[in-house]
Amino acid sequence: MIIFFVIIFFIIFLYFFFKKGKNKGESIVIKRLNKLDKNKYRVLNNILFDFNGITTQIDHIVVSVYGIFVIETKNLKGIIIGNEDSIEWVQRIYNNKYQFYNPIRQNKYHIDFLKRVLTDYNFIVSIIVFTNKAILKTKTKTSVVYDKNLNKKIMYYNREIFNNRDVERIVKTIELYNLSNDKKVLKKHIYNIKRKLKIQNKKIKSGKCPFCDSKLLKKKKNNNFFLVCEKFPNCRFKMEINTHWWSRWLW
Ligand SMILES: [Zn+2]
Repeated sequence: MIIFFVIIFFIIFLYFFFKKGKNKGESIVIKRLNKLDKNKYRVLNNILFDFNGITTQIDHIVVSVYGIFVIETKNLKGIIIGNEDSIEWVQRIYNNKYQFYNPIRQNKYHIDFLKRVLTDYNFIVSIIVFTNKAILKTKTKTSVVYDKNLNKKIMYYNREIFNNRDVERIVKTIELYNLSNDKKVLKKHIYNIKRKLKIQNKKIKSGKCPFCDSKLLKKKKNNNFFLVCEKFPNCRFKMEINTHWWSRWLW
């Protein structure tokens, strides 16, 4: 029973930890983007799109005659290891490894969404930004940069693709589809995320895989404890439980 409480506590902790981290990273990047020449670059932050009931949130979009830049922000510390196509990337802090969804894939998904909205304008550049807390060991075709190099990366694209009227039209279209200003929709989006998390936690608590409902197995690797789906590798659910000595004691 105690184990379950530790897991739940840990999940709640992680949720708030990452939520807080994400917001902080975004405000760092907004500060950077605000230094771009305002006559040339239009910066849109925190865009929420809805397409047939599926919502997706884009951290930042920069629109200019040089193209459209879609930016995904990560505020993670430690060594970041990743490549273009893998499903997950690794965050290494001392001897602990954490997996997170490949942000290039995540941003690709955002860009596909945007392409459906901006059918005529498809010069879209994906950029992944890490705050300087991270040490990047990434090998990718897509740009993965530190926040201090973000504007330089954007300004590297200096060939005019669109005219000023296009830029206006693109910004207007994005604003038209953006639901962030609609409090009701935003509330629903947050509610859905919370509900999903609650259902997931309930499943984990009862020893079921939140992805496929199979049994979860307790595994120990390098002194770390994991819950792993019994259908691995067909199902990729894996959760590190806790690395503190007191949680090991509880196990
Ligand atoms: Zn599973």
